[in-house]
Amino acid sequence: MTSACTIRVRGVVQGVGFRPFVYRLARANTLAGWVLNGDEGVEIHLEGEGDRMAAFLHELRADAPAAATITAIEVDPVEPDGHDGFVIRSSRERARPTAAISPDLALCARCLEELFDPADPRHRYPYLNCTDCGPRFSIVRGLPYDRAATTMAAWPMDARCAAEYHDPLSRRFHAQPVACPECGPGYTLSGASLDIDIRTSDAAIERAAALLREGGIVAVKGIGGYHLACDARDPAAVLRLRGRKYRKEKPFALMARDLATAHALVVLAPEAESLLRSAAAPIVLAAARATLPHVAPDAGELGVMLPYTPLHHLLFAAGAPDVLVMTSANRSSEPIACDDADARDRLGGLADALLVGERPIARRVEDSVVRHGSLGPVILRRGRGYAPGAVAALPVSRPVLALGADLKNTVTLVVDGQAFTSQHIGDLDHFDAARAFEETTRDFLAMYAVREDELLVVHDAHPQYRSTAFADTFGRSERMAVQHHRAHIASVLAERGAWDDRVLGISLDGTGWGDNGSIWGGEFFVGGIRTGLERVGHLRTAALAGGDAAARHPVQAAAGFLDQLDDLPDLTREPFGFPPLFDQARRVLGRRTRVFSTTSAGRLFDAAAALLGFLRPISFEGQAAMWVEHQACGAPV
Ligand SMILES: [Zn+2]
Ligand SMILES: [Zn+2]
Repeated sequence: MTSACTIRVRGVVQGVGFRPFVYRLARANTLAGWVLNGDEGVEIHLEGEGDRMAAFLHELRADAPAAATITAIEVDPVEPDGHDGFVIRSSRERARPTAAISPDLALCARCLEELFDPADPRHRYPYLNCTDCGPRFSIVRGLPYDRAATTMAAWPMDARCAAEYHDPLSRRFHAQPVACPECGPGYTLSGASLDIDIRTSDAAIERAAALLREGGIVAVKGIGGYHLACDARDPAAVLRLRGRKYRKEKPFALMARDLATAHALVVLAPEAESLLRSAAAPIVLAAARATLPHVAPDAGELGVMLPYTPLHHLLFAAGAPDVLVMTSANRSSEPIACDDADARDRLGGLADALLVGERPIARRVEDSVVRHGSLGPVILRRGRGYAPGAVAALPVSRPVLALGADLKNTVTLVVDGQAFTSQHIGDLDHFDAARAFEETTRDFLAMYAVREDELLVVHDAHPQYRSTAFADTFGRSERMAVQHHRAHIASVLAERGAWDDRVLGISLDGTGWGDNGSIWGGEFFVGGIRTGLERVGHLRTAALAGGDAAARHPVQAAAGFLDQLDDLPDLTREPFGFPPLFDQARRVLGRRTRVFSTTSAGRLFDAAAALLGFLRPISFEGQAAMWVEHQACGAPV
């Protein structure tokens, strides 16, 4: 007997080949009806025999495309409409699109084969992709996800690409960025100081690879922004890059030609290797095996990734060095460059040449950084491959915008109970990062069509944060301040859906505004999300000379912690050899002006680092603690 049902599939199901998958599945089970991209995910209407439908539903879950993440499948019986055959309908647009947009995905194995197949029409084409791989979030200008709403809108498809795009049985069916050498964008290479101006992709890539071999620095346009690349095994090139980028010591990320090369660089556990090879293709931090001067001074780990765009594979195939430094193209602490005119402006003095792809980038997305820890993968920086993933489901119907804190900022938008977290934005005391923060927030609100008057805006309790000031610009929204460390505990509970659990939560951190106006960072709370979190304990309070400035000078932080001890020896002598700043800080403490109290775990680590011999100012956040970790790893057990 013929029956019918509607099926709603939620999660990351658009732009990942889901509709053609449904089409093939329905055909295989001789079912009639239609499928379309709705704004809450994929909607399916199905008519046919009951056992066929059961088989369809089973395979829908079991065989979904690799890039899809299904969060829910809802099935409702309906009356049959009398369809004969199964069709893919065009997207429907409604009041608010809440379908999750897919993150950008690394080149898939089948596209990689085509890339190096001389008989393939897309042989050596740097913008090759299919529904299993390629850019998504970085090219989307609006929802629903269709070519007209991407940065590929300017390149009309030729007959070949159009045929594949419209063929439900093709791997490129509705692959929005589909293109080929005949109809799509290409790459160019320019470098004023070297008098380079190459307009064809092949020649541009060849010359860029040669420049890298010769020790040059090349700016390479990628998925979510520009990288600065150089030969990681060439100490002079790496030092030159550090000098031009004003980045003294912070570790550089590496791109290894292939997995074997990555294994030679770092110790890779099987879990770390699968992160490296995943469709997200992040930078994976792992214990260093190789020594590469100036790449990651004083660090026991290296950050390594594999090539994830056709261009990267082509660069290595053209003879680029097998390990490249691939660092975000910017001067220290600025956001990554992603606009071409801006890149030429800002990177002209940093790079010897610019390898520029013609496809525009809709929004900047940096490489993600992950580490495989004892509790599983830990995302240290959320970016390409993970953003804008849904990180939690919340029992709220109202839209909530959470603006984050000023350091290592990300923003989160909750729409229809799903929490979407943005890519890493940066430190908001930098002008460009603050601008990127506002852009990203507006971008999120526009993408999900959220109105200001229905929005709850949540911000850090710090009265002087830029994110707090920005919250005040939402005049028509309700606003709420949340204490920094309670937010840390609550987000861990939200990830686990533990709405009713009563917990002891320990938040060990650098800096956050406390209830009493002092600097918190080593806090113990008891409670839960619904009942609130009561502070029941904290690290012993220490005085901090100069407040936040002490975060840059471990010796200055040490002065406050050591001030509590009687009979302190003269630490400016050997074996400690503290610089004069230490005694200056102690005098400030004695005068009791510009002295703040803190319970920060980060400053406690800094004090320990100073006593162990880290006497210089830090040049990036977390440096002293990383240094201690590195010393500890090398210590005899
Ligand atoms: Zn592919
Ligand atoms: Zn084409």
